[in-house]
Amino acid sequence: AEKTNLLLLVEDVSKTFDGFKAISNLTFYLDRGELRTVIGPNGAGKSTFFDLITGRAKPDTGRIEFGWNTDLTGMNEYQINRLGIGRKFQTPSVYAEHTVFENLLLSLQGPRGVFATLWHRPTSTERDRIDALLRTVRLEAKRAVPAGRLAHGEKQWLELGMLLAQDPQLLLVDEPAAGMTDDETARTGDLLISLAEKHSIIVVEHDMTFVRQIARDGKVTVLHQGTVLCEGRFDEVQADERVREVYLGR
Ligand code: ADP
Ligand code: MG
Repeated sequence: AEKTNLLLLVEDVSKTFDGFKAISNLTFYLDRGELRTVIGPNGAGKSTFFDLITGRAKPDTGRIEFGWNTDLTGMNEYQINRLGIGRKFQTPSVYAEHTVFENLLLSLQGPRGVFATLWHRPTSTERDRIDALLRTVRLEAKRAVPAGRLAHGEKQWLELGMLLAQDPQLLLVDEPAAGMTDDETARTGDLLISLAEKHSIIVVEHDMTFVRQIARDGKVTVLHQGTVLCEGRFDEVQADERVREVYLGR
């Protein structure tokens, strides 16, 4: 990869929790415009990897840079988010008593959760943005429904829409297909593929059918015991003997 095209650099990062090495000498590079899938068994360190990028956890050693030499290592979660890194957690968190429209409005009007009750009436620009977001995540028909009444898949898409409202350069998406039906999973894959036209994305996932769908010709990174086991196209990674051992125990 050309150095100028590098969006995220994670170099030799380690993180220990109470003596347990959750991330161990992890090195990872992401190019601008990539849709990267990160897979690995439970406990491999996938969510911790996102915690380190977003400033939720601090690396013990190593270096994380974003864009042109912006060192994230000393920044807090809020500062990193402001730079254009948005994260979607595994469990959707939406404002249950607010409608889909209002949830998107809240995300447009400021950082999530802060002053959540102080939102103002939407301007026409905001309405247009929300309409576009509703089309993107295909929730036009649900705009007036309280978020708490959405189906699980719909909540996940709403949360993706809320994340997109901040127009992040880099989207970190943690197990978006967890708990979804096959149909919802396929729709989520289509959505992520279309988002990748405008955003760089890292998706953490362990549903292999879903990974195959979104990875296409892109690179897949396999995490195991807090470090990169291998990287390559989906078919290469799937054929790798080490990956088979980790996943199938043989
Ligand atoms: P994954 O998302 O791949 O399932 P995680 O990153 O959640 O894995 O966890 C990796 C390991 O680090 C697990 O063994 C987990 O228990 C441990 N871990 C993660 N976060 C913490 C924390 N804040 N405190 C203690 N242990 C943690
Ligand atoms: Mg996880």
